Amino acid sequence: MDCENIKGCTLFKIPLASKERELAFQGFVRMYCKGDLKEKCVRRLVGRTLGGPSKIPENMMPNGLPLAGTDDSKWSPEAKALAKNRPWG
Ligand code: SF4
Repeated sequence: MDCENIKGCTLFKIPLASKERELAFQGFVRMYCKGDLKEKCVRRLVGRTLGGPSKIPENMMPNGLPLAGTDDSKWSPEAKALAKNRPWG
């Protein structure tokens, strides 16, 4: 079953400027948004814990890492902490 956030998730607004990014994006969608890893999506965790999708860093991937070629310098301390100390390890 798809993640309940799939229709409004800002992950789908990330510009896919290269073939490499597009392939990575497709892999994340398959594994997380439409797959078993949705329960371990860090974007989902951040949104739920911090109060909604607006709290999710735009360039955060479902695995909690920044999009390749970007960094976490604009992330809130709370989002960084959740990405680092996720409850499932
Ligand atoms: S990125 Fe995470 S929160 Fe967004 S639709 Fe995919 S699994 Fe759900």
